[in-house]
Amino acid sequence: RFIAPQPQSRNEEVQDRAIRPRALSDYVGQPRVREQMEIFIPAARNRSEALDHTLIFGPPGLGKTTLAHIIANEMGVDIKSTSGPVLEKAGDLAAMLTNLEQGDVLFIDEIHRLSPAVEEVLYPAMEDYQLDIMIGEGPAARSIKLELPPFTLVGATTRAGLLTSPLRDRFGIVQRLEFYSVDDLVSIVTRSAKLLGVDIDEAGAREIAQRSRGTPRIANRLLRRARDFAEVKADGMINGKSADQALDMLNVDSHGFDHMDRRLLLAMIEKFDGGPVGVDSLAAAISEERDTIEDVLEPYLIQQGYIMRTPRGRVLTRMAYQHFGMESLHRGQD
Ligand code: ADP
Repeated sequence: RFIAPQPQSRNEEVQDRAIRPRALSDYVGQPRVREQMEIFIPAARNRSEALDHTLIFGPPGLGKTTLAHIIANEMGVDIKSTSGPVLEKAGDLAAMLTNLEQGDVLFIDEIHRLSPAVEEVLYPAMEDYQLDIMIGEGPAARSIKLELPPFTLVGATTRAGLLTSPLRDRFGIVQRLEFYSVDDLVSIVTRSAKLLGVDIDEAGAREIAQRSRGTPRIANRLLRRARDFAEVKADGMINGKSADQALDMLNVDSHGFDHMDRRLLLAMIEKFDGGPVGVDSLAAAISEERDTIEDVLEPYLIQQGYIMRTPRGRVLTRMAYQHFGMESLHRGQD
């Protein structure tokens, strides 16, 4: 699964650490995000204040965690990381909060998956740097209030619409990450290759970039597989030809779609006549979670113009039929 949302192994995580950009100047692409952060970060730093709470949203692998680490790095503070599903009880969050030092970044990945009880504790912490929590149960229960040092909450989520509005309203900075252009991905692949000591030419980097679904994590993953291929089947150098062969072998097609993308598109053609079809029916048809369709598969297919979202459900465009060498049955819908 090349488009799997999370790092696939410990090993991948370790290698990722070596190539993950640490400074805003190494963060490729996302010009709008960079332009804004290049103002907000120095401004807060010069005033010796904590940066405003920042929400980052976008599909998996586009650089949310990376940006959170860059924020901490550029602010010269520590980052403590956790995620929505890990914070089960209010006390779990309280433990994280009381561990923060002045100005630190608290990074909460998948922040849309916080339980309501934990979210309640987060509100006063974000707003007034106050921890307001009940300890104990029954008659012995009492509430305690603690002052927290000013800190920056950085929250990451795949879709901003998943957040409750009181939570969303408490973020002063909201950044939306876009899919990367092929040129940006060429830069990312070239940079990663250099850091990993991989020999690659421009055509090789471009081949990988074009087939990475606009996503740096996938680009880096395909780079590693193309390196394996080049080392065993070619002379170790990744060029256009060896990259193309490696990606064909991995079933990544010329548009960067892998077999999951193709399954989704083909199910829409074969089982639903091109739509409109609701996401739940689609999920059942291809035995995938609804969330995987909405967070991982669909955003890129929509952005590339293969699927449209309409009030009645998802509809395929003519491009999707053309991708499989078929004629659209529903010309009126294009
Ligand atoms: P997310 O948190 O959105 O799932 P990550 O921040 O973990 O994504 O990014 C995945 C990988 O992609 C990182 O290991 C990093 O090396 C690379 N990456 C992400 N964004 C960029 C970028 N703007 N420039 C260069 N590399 C990037």
